[in-house]
Amino acid sequence: MKTDTIAAIATAVSDSGIGIIRVSGEEAVKIVAQVYQNVHHEKVLDRYDSHTIHYGFITDLNGDVIDEVMVSVMKAPKSYTMEDTVEINCHGGALMMRKILMTVTEAGARIAEPGEFTKRAFLNGRIDLSRAESVMDIIHAKNEYALKASVRQLRGSVFKKIKGLREKVLYEIAFIESALDDPEHISLEGYEEKLSDQVCYLIGELDKLLCFADDGKLLKEGIRTVIVGKPNVGKSSLLNLLVGQDRAIVTDVAGTTRDTLEETVNLGDITLNIIDTAGIRSTEDVVEKIGVEKAKTISEDADLILYVMDSSIPLDGNDEDIVRMIKDKKTIILMNKSDLDEVVDKSSVDSLLSKVTEKRSIVYELSEEVYEEGWEEESKNIFIIKISAKENGGLDCLVNLIKKMFFYSRISYNDEVCITSSRHKEALLEALDSMNQVKKSLEDHMPEDFYSIDLMNAYAALGRIIGEEVGDDLVNEIFSKFCMGK
Ligand code: GDP
Repeated sequence: MKTDTIAAIATAVSDSGIGIIRVSGEEAVKIVAQVYQNVHHEKVLDRYDSHTIHYGFITDLNGDVIDEVMVSVMKAPKSYTMEDTVEINCHGGALMMRKILMTVTEAGARIAEPGEFTKRAFLNGRIDLSRAESVMDIIHAKNEYALKASVRQLRGSVFKKIKGLREKVLYEIAFIESALDDPEHISLEGYEEKLSDQVCYLIGELDKLLCFADDGKLLKEGIRTVIVGKPNVGKSSLLNLLVGQDRAIVTDVAGTTRDTLEETVNLGDITLNIIDTAGIRSTEDVVEKIGVEKAKTISEDADLILYVMDSSIPLDGNDEDIVRMIKDKKTIILMNKSDLDEVVDKSSVDSLLSKVTEKRSIVYELSEEVYEEGWEEESKNIFIIKISAKENGGLDCLVNLIKKMFFYSRISYNDEVCITSSRHKEALLEALDSMNQVKKSLEDHMPEDFYSIDLMNAYAALGRIIGEEVGDDLVNEIFSKFCMGK
């Protein structure tokens, strides 16, 4: 591992109140000492105690003052990287920060690679790989849920869980190996049953983590949402309402939203990646048709469909086509224009549904009871929400329902371990695969050394999550995705 001294601008390179230049490594104090002067213009940085902060000046190597600064000194091992670290708080101008960084490099530091500070924290053993990865997730978090999950991961939720599972696997490996080495003293009599219980337990735990993993991904990256419905029902108006600005063009002419629009919408706890598609209907218009085809394709890989209906106009054959297209997807029916006289109600929706699918509708309101009832057999129901895109009504209800449909009873528990990384998911799948192999070997009464091979694989796969069984290449790849100065 490189132990040279690195430096980088740790704050955003834009005009701001304060900018921070971070310096870390064996020579950090010595290097900054050459360009720091206290108020009496003395070069005394190397005399300061650890974890103290000092007012003074950064100068160039000739002693000319560049900026007025506060400098903090954090000596190894009690720093972010576990190395000697000096942070220079200067004025936040982009030019100033660059100038100070150049000065520090002239004094002997090397410009850090992206993520190199956190990589050092990992390589020096202060944090495991899952915690290191969460640092970047915190910086990139788009919503409250994602932020909470990342902070929990930084505090070790994933690490502790994985470590616990690995210990259990290791115990079994050790037991088998010792028994095979020393059969006179350690008996494998009745062991298959014990191992079988433990394997079932471990498979259950891995399943649980994996079943949250897909939710975790949606939570972190956003729910891919498609708005469908006939022309003029209010799709663009709804999108505008969600986005909070007039991005989509709203008009009275049927079929104006011809191409697709994509918007990321943060609704407090959740993020929707909304794709607004063309109005879906049987049509001769070629341009319109392209839109419709596109809408069908997009709907296929959506996580959520928002199906907008105009409650003031009767349903027709076009609605039947739409239902046919989306019947197997997670769907919410939005009865729009609830400010006008109601022509379409639950029974009209149910009779439409009955032509195409077994699913029935439930009118969702902001009340737990309706929800609990609907949740029992969620896959058999389609929720209806009454909204008015014009009068801004029903949005709370929609957000509440989406949260429950995707994250209910899972992410809400504070101690729940939430896997949000696809790298972790892959490793968990591999561990699960190996554990299933052990289960199979047990059922087939294979010799004990068969068990230990697969247990070892599971142990190694889990180790990759926390960074115990990873090569340099992977470590480099993970940290290269970090931002500068982190
Ligand atoms: P789209 O073709 O489905 O995207 O529909 P638009 O969003 O362009 O809306 C069509 C027309 O319906 C526009 O004149 C909107 O102002 C109107 N509209 C949309 N939502 C509502 C609503 O909730 N109530 C009423 N009264 N009109 C609405």
